Amino acid sequence: MDKILIIDDSPVQTEFLSSILRGEHELTACHTAEEGLRAAKEGNFALILLDVIMPEMDGFTLLRELKATDLTRYIPVILLTSLTDIQFEEQGLLLGAVDYVTKPFNPVIIKARVNTHIQLYHYQMQFRQQAMIDELTGVANRRRYEDGSTARWNEAVRFNLPFSICMFDIDKFKLYNDTFGHPAGDQVIAAVAKTVSTYFQRSTDLFARYGGEEFVAVFVGTAAESAFEFMKSVRQAVENLHIPHNSPVSPWVTVSIGGVTVTPKVGNDFNTCLKLADTMLYDAKRFGRNQVVWSNQNQAQWREK
Ligand code: GH3
Ligand code: MG
Ligand code: MG
Repeated sequence: MDKILIIDDSPVQTEFLSSILRGEHELTACHTAEEGLRAAKEGNFALILLDVIMPEMDGFTLLRELKATDLTRYIPVILLTSLTDIQFEEQGLLLGAVDYVTKPFNPVIIKARVNTHIQLYHYQMQFRQQAMIDELTGVANRRRYEDGSTARWNEAVRFNLPFSICMFDIDKFKLYNDTFGHPAGDQVIAAVAKTVSTYFQRSTDLFARYGGEEFVAVFVGTAAESAFEFMKSVRQAVENLHIPHNSPVSPWVTVSIGGVTVTPKVGNDFNTCLKLADTMLYDAKRFGRNQVVWSNQNQAQWREK
């Protein structure tokens, strides 16, 4: 059952709407905009029915607020208007409402519109989800990484947290393809992604396929030394898969990892940080592969072997 939030200052109206929609949907009613906003952020709703005219914060102000908030931005909002405030419909639709229904309510029309918008919402969510996921591995794709990494960087700046970013690259992978074939290579990329992704389960972690046989991970709140230790165990986990490889590095498929931990300040550049991670990866390759090379804020460089 989908969850619907009804926000209307009139208990008579919310009760009437509820009686129409009850049974097919799980309903929550709020009688002020403030209460509605709080509920919307917490509730995982598939639709909001919003009254325009309310005392204190009105429906438009709330609508603006909902559209400006990450957690609520994509929830479709249907405006509830009476014939007398029909001139407000245009404004509401321009603010991002998907539809409006006029009071007095016609139960059949309301049900139909509600169901249509909930269905569209599910399609949209599915589409957004797919657009952010790498098909071969099921982990986040490059686009999701681009969005997510800068958001985490900004958060680290704001809360003065250590920020880590690292690049992974499968060692001698061209040789793997040449030896075992491209489809087998694909399976290796998927297996490596699956194993590594189990290490990045916190809600603030981001692990993505950067492209080809390269991955990127971003995490916040871990001190440099712990980040280095952590990544050593991730590298070890890949080697422990014991996927046979005909490589001068190891009998198994391995990855090289280069990363950096910084506590960014306002004005620091994310791209400089990313470049440094890239340099660390380059060093990991240069020093013999199958190892982690890490840089901390003071430009000290740690090598695993
Ligand atoms: P290094 O240890 O220096 O990283 O050597 P490498 O051979 O892994 O590096 P290089 O960048 O020369 O080659 C990467 C190879 O990865 C080349 C390409 O064929 C392979 N590759 C990239 N994307 C895919 C993919 O999606 N599937 C498969 N099977 N192979 C891929
Ligand atoms: Mg590469
Ligand atoms: Mg490689």
